[in-house]
Formats: sequence, C-alpha cells, structure tokens
Amino acid sequence: MSHTEWEALKAACAACTRCSLSLTRTTTVFGKGSETAKILFVGEAPGEQEDLSGMPFVGRAGKLLDALLDEAGIPREEIYIANILKCRPPENRDPLPAEEDACLDYLFGQIRLLRPRAVVCLGRIAAARLIKKDFRITKEHGVWFENKDYPITAIYHPAFVLRDPRKKGDVLADLAIIKEKLNEIL
Ligand code: URA
Repeated sequence: MSHTEWEALKAACAACTRCSLSLTRTTTVFGKGSETAKILFVGEAPGEQEDLSGMPFVGRAGKLLDALLDEAGIPREEIYIANILKCRPPENRDPLPAEEDACLDYLFGQIRLLRPRAVVCLGRIAAARLIKKDFRITKEHGVWFENKDYPITAIYHPAFVLRDPRKKGDVLADLAIIKEKLNEIL
C-alpha cells in the first residue's frame, strides 16, 4: 500500500476532533513500525509518555514490551504497534465505548493498509473490541481466533505484567507461538 495513503490517514488522525479526548490530548498517537510489517500488535490507549511523545508504548509498559519481544526473538521490523484509541484518556481511565466507536476507523484504516498476516491484542480492552465482547484474558490469552482476514490472539497487557510479574511466563509462552507463526509467514 502506498506511503501517501499512510500519510493521509495519519494526517486525518492528527486533526481528529471526533470525540472530546481531542480537547485534552497533547498529541495523537498514531502508531509505529514498518508499513510492511507482518504482525500488528494493538494496545489500549496512549498513556502520559505516549501523549507527550506521540509514539505508542514508550513508557514503562512499552519498555517491558520491548524487553519481552527481544526475549522472544521477535524482530521489531516485522511488527507494527498501534492502539484502539489514538488519544490519551484523562488519568488513563478505561476508554469509553463511544470513544472507541469514534476512533476505530483509524485502526481499521491501518489494518486495511498494512494487511497484517496476524493480529495480537495487548490486554483485555483490545481483545474485547477486536475478538469478542466477553473476552476473558485469564482464560483465553494465547488462544487463536479466526476472522475473515487474519488470525487474531491476545496476550496480557505489559502494564498488567508490571503489576503482576508472575504473568511474564505466560506472555513469553504466548510470544513463542507468535514467533513460530512469524517464522511460517516469513
Ligand atoms: N498502553 C497502551 O495500551 N498503549 C500505549 O501506547 C501505552 C501504554
């Protein structure tokens, strides 16, 4: 897909006023990674550091995600990282359904341009939106679901692993399967 289409989508997102988060954000956080990446990771929403820098997953949770991906041997060039919401909710509260509804066109635009071969939700909020409403992260992390365009799974959100480091083993086991999928694709 053309770089120009990516730039147009990014510019539309940067100028977005579809919900009231546009009034409190410092900057939109569109996404990062290669436009030819094979796997898309989807988090929840920008936090404070992301809101200030405009880049997803640069705060403490992001640093842990980087370390987990390194440990799993998943090369950064092969993944693209975005969020359900492109603007930070005040005090990092959960996204409201109306905010997700207003914002999802941008994520779906990213999916249309990227055509990922697999999608990985980071945490329950993304999984509930992209896999199924009643997604249970404790029971269903690492389970693969099929939708019409790509296989999709969820792993624990790195912020959750920061709060409960015993979950790190589960995340690494799930990432090992994701790495195998990537090897099949490449
Ligand atoms: N948490 C998320 O879900 N996304 C980010 O970009 C940062 C933290």
